Amino acid sequence: MNTLYWVTKDLRLDDNPTLQRAAISESLLIAYCVDPRWFSPYRFHVQSLGTHRWNFLQESLSQFNKALAPLGQSLAIYYERPEVQLVSLINELGIERLVCSRQFGVDEKSALKFIAERFENLIVEQVDCTTLFKKGDLPFAIEDLPATYSQFRRVVENLAIPAPIDTPAALPKPPKLNTSRVTRPDWVPLPKGSQCPFIGGEANAVFHLHKYFSGGLPATYKTTRNELDGWDNSSKMSPWLNGGDLSGRRLKQVLTDYEAANGANESTHWLFVELLWREYFQWFALKLGSSLFTLKGNSSCARSGCFYPERFQQWCHGSTPYPLVNACMVQLSKTGYLSNRGRQIAASCFINEMELDWRYGAAWFEHQLVDYDVAVNWGNWQYIAGVGADPRGGRHFNLSKQSEIYDPDGAYQARWASEQAPLPLNSRDAADWPIG
Ligand code: FAD
Repeated sequence: MNTLYWVTKDLRLDDNPTLQRAAISESLLIAYCVDPRWFSPYRFHVQSLGTHRWNFLQESLSQFNKALAPLGQSLAIYYERPEVQLVSLINELGIERLVCSRQFGVDEKSALKFIAERFENLIVEQVDCTTLFKKGDLPFAIEDLPATYSQFRRVVENLAIPAPIDTPAALPKPPKLNTSRVTRPDWVPLPKGSQCPFIGGEANAVFHLHKYFSGGLPATYKTTRNELDGWDNSSKMSPWLNGGDLSGRRLKQVLTDYEAANGANESTHWLFVELLWREYFQWFALKLGSSLFTLKGNSSCARSGCFYPERFQQWCHGSTPYPLVNACMVQLSKTGYLSNRGRQIAASCFINEMELDWRYGAAWFEHQLVDYDVAVNWGNWQYIAGVGADPRGGRHFNLSKQSEIYDPDGAYQARWASEQAPLPLNSRDAADWPIG
């Protein structure tokens, strides 16, 4: 059997059931596709992949390739759309089986469908590698996913999570490729400087994981996780989890070991509760399909929301009339990271004060976030806009109150002060003409 393993968000050796499944083969090509569409304006005219995540991804790819070498393997990186590149490899190498992790995004799912339809005899296998649970182990069909997170949590909280698996001891040999070595095309951006505090790669993920659980931070997580800023106030696992450098099941197992050694409390439990939010959004995205990106999302009627180009620019670059929001947007663009509180504040302001179509905000976050995940990002935006998995019709955060509670001495706003002067909301009309 000739197998092609299409690597996506599973750039690791540890607890990688997709790799384990793909390795049951005589020959194995391990391939990653850098999609040119990531670098041009995409959904809502915003480029999908920004500098922070691209830097992070390049480090992850490089570390995964190095980790494969002692196993006699390597990561073949192609600069092409997956549906084009994988079809060409299947033809060239007589591939009989395509294995990948389960895809939750619409684009990835349609690439898989496109490939499967082209090859009648190709075996296509998707493995549950990025979630805690396997699709088949969920006690409901995806169409019957509980309508709210609380209902979901009640049903799955005590469900057994598959134990993480170890790094493989051996892998099949790669096939002989006819094509010469792939060179990096000119359109691929070179790594750029950024103040992002995260570096991609499995080794960095493991280091961070053990450091976080080596002290008392998990035992106080619930009391600090809501803070606006501060490295130690939340786990900071998201970039590695979503890049695929770290498995959620491994994180859960380390958390369980921590509880066994140090005692479980509300905080350690709450870390699991948050991981279950991530889990819920994955299955929710699978259920919604392309409705994840529509104005009305999962609701029966569209919420209002327009596109004012000037307001959008103000928000993106931190020159709104709201200093707290400006600070959030400056931190996001400088570092690629924003606390959950900061994300909620920025998104609520975008939707409620600035009255913009929530999807443009979600697209900007997609571009900026180092930990971007299609299901979690778009799911959270829908939730705040009141068109998602939300029974209470959206969230509106009172900006003055948020400042008083989370930045009483203005330290956060001083640290991430915007270089742009704040502008009033209505200096231009909807057609971008100056008013007055
Ligand atoms: P912790 O507080 O330590 O939480 C542990 C883990 O639980 C996180 O790494 C994450 O995997 C999960 N988690 C925590 N909060 C949430 C949540 N609200 N929804 C789902 N999972 C959660 N998170 C992403 O990982 N990628 C995104 O693209 C993303 N976009 C967001 C957009 C908006 C508008 C909002 C409000 C939230 C978004 N989040 C996103 C969720 C959350 O803000 C981040 O997961 C969290 O801030 C990451 O930091 P942490 O790892 O220290 O989180």
